[in-house]
Amino acid sequence: MTATDTRSPTPLSGIDVWIFDLDNTLYPASSNLFAQIDQRMTEFIGERFDLPWDEARRRQKQFFRDYGTTLRGLMTEHDVDPIEFMDYVHDIDVTPVIPSPELDQALERLPGRKIVYTNGSCRHADNVLARLGIARHFDVIYDIVAAGYVPKPDPRPYGELVERHGIEPRRACMVEDIARNLVPAAALGMTTVWVRTEADFARPDRGGVGHGDHIHHAVDDLIEWLVGLTRPDGSPDATAVGS
Ligand SMILES: [Mg+2]
Repeated sequence: MTATDTRSPTPLSGIDVWIFDLDNTLYPASSNLFAQIDQRMTEFIGERFDLPWDEARRRQKQFFRDYGTTLRGLMTEHDVDPIEFMDYVHDIDVTPVIPSPELDQALERLPGRKIVYTNGSCRHADNVLARLGIARHFDVIYDIVAAGYVPKPDPRPYGELVERHGIEPRRACMVEDIARNLVPAAALGMTTVWVRTEADFARPDRGGVGHGDHIHHAVDDLIEWLVGLTRPDGSPDATAVGS
């Protein structure tokens, strides 16, 4: 990847590629889908290694700490088939996600290409986007398979994404709830938007990621913000951090 781009971020009015994280970004964290996925991961490990729940849970969290994702740990240490794992853990009930005509409208009015970039699978993304009613807006779903099983925030798949899909980072904006996942995006020269959350692991001020200048905008409500952006009298940069 190229050297860190230290120029000021491109204003949102100059963006023509929008890269959205999926989970807890395109739908609210209160849907709590991750709790189901988390539980399925524990079940998978319990079944695979014939472990009681508590021990399976401990192993899972250890993989997460050591490798960044549970899947990466399972693949590295146990040669687990990633497709089998993902099909299992993403076999969840997506009905807690509420269909969102508002988000559909907001995306419709937002000019430019839209891409989903997720550490999950395409199948999971398809399920969630269909449930939200916004699948038609996205021409690329860049999932963990496309990323060669290297999860965010490793910078390598970000470089791959821009190369493979002809994205000019200075004209791209990445929207994410996990603050540290915005670090490589900002380093490439993208404008970044952090969807505020209370979850410790996702915040910039906890979990060891620091108050970086990798967050250019912070928003509480994605839909409200998108609607504001695309209103004729909208003031796109009103949410700039520090303004
Ligand atoms: Mg997320």
